[in-house]
Amino acid sequence: MKKYNIGILGATGVVGQNYIKLLRNHPWFQVVDVAASPRSANKTYEEAVKQKWQMPFSIPGDLKEMIVRDVQDFKSLNPDVKFVFSAISLPNKEDIKKIEFEYAKKGIPVISNNSAHRWTPDVPMIIGEINSEHINVIPIQQKQKGFTNGFVVVKPNCSLQSYLTPIFALEKAGYKINNLIITTLQAVSGAGYPGVPSLDMIDNIVPYVGGEEEKTEKEPLKILGKVSENGIINNDSIKISATCTRVPVIDGHTASVNMKFKDKVPSKEKIIEIWKNFKSIPQELDLPFAPKQPIIYLENVDRPQPKKDRDNDKGMAVTVGRLRKDTVFDYKFVSLSHNTVRGAAGGSILTAEILVSKGFIP
Ligand code: NAP
Repeated sequence: MKKYNIGILGATGVVGQNYIKLLRNHPWFQVVDVAASPRSANKTYEEAVKQKWQMPFSIPGDLKEMIVRDVQDFKSLNPDVKFVFSAISLPNKEDIKKIEFEYAKKGIPVISNNSAHRWTPDVPMIIGEINSEHINVIPIQQKQKGFTNGFVVVKPNCSLQSYLTPIFALEKAGYKINNLIITTLQAVSGAGYPGVPSLDMIDNIVPYVGGEEEKTEKEPLKILGKVSENGIINNDSIKISATCTRVPVIDGHTASVNMKFKDKVPSKEKIIEIWKNFKSIPQELDLPFAPKQPIIYLENVDRPQPKKDRDNDKGMAVTVGRLRKDTVFDYKFVSLSHNTVRGAAGGSILTAEILVSKGFIP
């Protein structure tokens, strides 16, 4: 199969480097274009990244000498590029929105890690195993925005899939959930490079991560929503209260979750059975980045742990444990997923595979 030529916007950052890592041997996609800020533009990728390189291997040979473009120099985009992954970080979200829509206007599909477009109603926010059918909003977006072949698709906040996938599996099995209390313990790589100063992180926990609690409480409502003729309509049936903290872990966001069911309450054995058997569209399509078992349940009382479990199924599985009765709600559990893989680059690559399989990227 001839591979799709793709570009990475923000290729020099933490998420950008993860794309390079994960796409090294991808059977369908190959990186032919890298872009970043004007600071990196016109340098070789190696010069632009320098000591920011965080991956556990040397920069691949073909990329070392690749010249980095300025993200906003649209004319210099390699004409062979079929779509781009976006991992740019700019202080003003409006600037990110404009840049991503500009690529879409030029006929280039954009699969983005940014929060900028997550609340644009006709932009789908995808977790492959939960709401891949939301890509059906793309023709509506193209019509409303006047795009021909281009479009923007986003992925949600990097901690969301760890708890929302187990919740969705229960809802899909007919056990509706009313209330969730979620406390996240988020890794430092979630803050990008150079991220949180070491003196704030070593020997410490920071009980505030700007904007994360709002995202944790609101983004699931869009993901669990429905496609309508104007965009996605939110599902407001679940109330979520979140506390988000930053912990001295390099990769892997953990969440402690308390859940209350609407009416029917399943047994502990039933919940574990539902999680273990849960499969969805990426598994049915047997996509290269689909984890074989999207939710792994561990019986050991001291798991999941970021160091031991974040790389399960190439970093794409959600690992859950410690399911037990809750004295206030019905049950509580701990869940974990790799924030820069499943929660960022890997999650977007899976979305791209779905878009290709469903014919949205010719
Ligand atoms: P990062 O390490 O700070 O990288 C930021 C990237 O944006 C770099 O490539 C940087 O290029 C580029 N950039 C900065 N200013 C720019 C400008 N004015 N114009 C064009 N490009 C510019 O951040 P990150 O952690 O990779 O995150 C990237 C995005 O993904 C953010 O929106 C973040 O919220 C989101 N995200 C991150 C994670 C995670 O776990 N880290 C997970 C999910 C989503 P230079 O090197 O040239 O400065």
